Amino acid sequence: MRCEFIGDAGKTWRDVTCARCGRRVRSPHSTAKVYATCPAWPRWWELGHWAEFALAVLGINQDRWNWIRFRLGFTTPCGCDGKIVKLNESGGWLRDRLDVIGRLFAVCRLGTR
Ligand SMILES: [Zn+2]
Repeated sequence: MRCEFIGDAGKTWRDVTCARCGRRVRSPHSTAKVYATCPAWPRWWELGHWAEFALAVLGINQDRWNWIRFRLGFTTPCGCDGKIVKLNESGGWLRDRLDVIGRLFAVCRLGTR
């Protein structure tokens, strides 16, 4: 999981900060070009990162999975990164729906007072 850097725009050197772990980096590049592995926990809706974490606990990382696939006769890599992105998007969809439901309940509670 990568750091999600946010920072100053329009300056020559920028102080960018990770929205997850708070890591600060001084960089001449925009936030889109600064990469770092983030030590923070995934957010609850990032289901792809949680699945990756659960598989890593079992000892299965992308390299090992691709090795197993190769031994089983598959010649192409698994495309794990794309699957992680899709699972994260699914979790984001779920988060948005739960957010709307929570707001509706909050409005209903205000209406009964
Ligand atoms: Zn980070």
